[in-house]
Amino acid sequence: MDKLMIDSLVSDAEKDCREIFEKIDAVEEFNTVRVLEVFSAEEVAARHFAPTTGYGYDDVGRDTLERIFARLFHADKAIVRPHIVSGTHALSLCLFGLLLPGDELLSATGRPYDTMQTVIGLTDDKVGTLAEMGVSYRETEMKDGGIDVPSVLASVNEKTKVVMVQRSRGYAWRRSLVPSDIEPLARELKARFPKIILMVDNCYGEFICKNEPTDFGADVCVGSLIKNLGGGIAPTGGYLVGRADVIERIACRLTAPGIALEEGSYAASYRPFYQGLFMAPHTVSQALKTAVLAARTFEKLGMKTTPAYNETRGDIIQAIEMTKPERLVAFCQGIQMASPVDSMALPEPWDMPGYADKVIMAAGTFVSGASIELSADAPMREPYTAYMQGALTLAHGRIAIKKALLRMTEMGCL
Ligand SMILES: *Cc1c(COP(=O)(O)O)cnc(C)c1O
Repeated sequence: MDKLMIDSLVSDAEKDCREIFEKIDAVEEFNTVRVLEVFSAEEVAARHFAPTTGYGYDDVGRDTLERIFARLFHADKAIVRPHIVSGTHALSLCLFGLLLPGDELLSATGRPYDTMQTVIGLTDDKVGTLAEMGVSYRETEMKDGGIDVPSVLASVNEKTKVVMVQRSRGYAWRRSLVPSDIEPLARELKARFPKIILMVDNCYGEFICKNEPTDFGADVCVGSLIKNLGGGIAPTGGYLVGRADVIERIACRLTAPGIALEEGSYAASYRPFYQGLFMAPHTVSQALKTAVLAARTFEKLGMKTTPAYNETRGDIIQAIEMTKPERLVAFCQGIQMASPVDSMALPEPWDMPGYADKVIMAAGTFVSGASIELSADAPMREPYTAYMQGALTLAHGRIAIKKALLRMTEMGCL
């Protein structure tokens, strides 16, 4: 395909997306109202952005930000910290905070995200894992794209302490979950096993809908700030939000028993966390539109996508089956070439820490590794599915899709 053909393909695809874009706009507005209401309730002002040092006692920027997250999720308490290095760290902190030797973790959505497999102790690397600490693990497969509630309940035993639900597809070819999908499971667990904690890996799911898993019975929601809720502006960090007793227990693991959330300073400004949260509904809408447009474009070329452009979305990820390794590599290279940062780098598959297969990653981001910015990645395994996510602006997303098509043409694999 030449440039003109690519332009008209993408422009035709975008015409098909109009109604879906309107729905995305409506969710953006709804969530922007929610953010503004919460900021107003907490009377956010310039003093909340001020840096702190040392122990960080009475750090008003930190404490207010944590209350804002709690309000936004209609939850009791939150941990929102720059020192949480990634989503995996936040999720790992949650699990190590809640599970004791002899306890069991049950995944209700099949095999979890690659890096979580390492945390649990499912890979060769056992040092420091839950398994080494004597925490056992079970999982139940999803059924018809949803949580198989009877099967989860049947897998509960006297050791089960935490049931984990992963909203996003990760590197699996499955549907992502919307918050209301967890309600039947939450209801049954509360009725039959009230002591079990329902935890949701909320990565990539925030602000996709008008509500969050805590609105449907999740006891704790966990995610990364260099994904949706950082709005493309937060430089690092993670969050956990939920029931008071659950967050308080985790806080003892975050710092130390007796210290919990009372300490923790940040020598840079908190402004990017506040501004990022304010931007997040818009940034998520731009990422969603890019995903929808990519889906429609590649569907027009006869490729398999999940979700299809007009399917309900529970996360910002778009999976596209490339079927051939060369095509997957060319796609990722095209995305990289259209990046504002590191456009000169040519991605190749490599052995990445925490992942079992070789992985190829295209990411030319201002915040290193931020996947709310446009990025594409894939484990090098059949059927060579590209997972793309993010884009701070739809214009960038559109340009990158075109660049990827051009690169695939040039490499003779479209
Ligand atoms: C991104 C992600 C994580 C955590 O990944 P990090 O790169 O460590 O932030 C965990 N689970 C899911 C489903 C994710 O999408």
